[in-house]
Amino acid sequence: MTRQEWESLCDGCGQCCLLKLEDEDDGTIYLTKLSCSMLDVRTCRCSDYAKRHELMPDCVSITPEKVRTLNWLPHTCAYRLVEEGRDLAWWHPLVSGDTDMVHAAGISVRSEARSEEEVHEDDYGHYIIGEVSE
Ligand code: SF4
Ligand code: SF4
Repeated sequence: MTRQEWESLCDGCGQCCLLKLEDEDDGTIYLTKLSCSMLDVRTCRCSDYAKRHELMPDCVSITPEKVRTLNWLPHTCAYRLVEEGRDLAWWHPLVSGDTDMVHAAGISVRSEARSEEEVHEDDYGHYIIGEVSE
């Protein structure tokens, strides 16, 4: 798969750009509905994808080698689906031919996410939406 083909697999849901919080006592990782400050919540796209690692050192690159180790990727993520040998969903842009379908189907974070910039760090816990599971 070429780099371009790999990149085209991303459905643009923005779910991987939601903040994760780790419980220091037991290592549990919680998912929040707060998004990385670089995520444009309206488009669900990174505001500077080319420079993301420079501007946001914590940003994780999703590569074919890493996918199976990234347990926080959502079950809808195309990279995860391909890794598990499953088909892309009907709303995926490569299937539907429509990049807006991921939003219309309610898969993207557009209607739920709030930028981390708008919330004080002490309040992050109020935005937990669940535990990250395998
Ligand atoms: S969760 Fe997967 S499909 Fe969705 S934006 Fe992230 S990498 Fe792309
Ligand atoms: S830097 Fe961009 S790609 Fe990385 S987590 Fe933030 S919004 Fe997502």
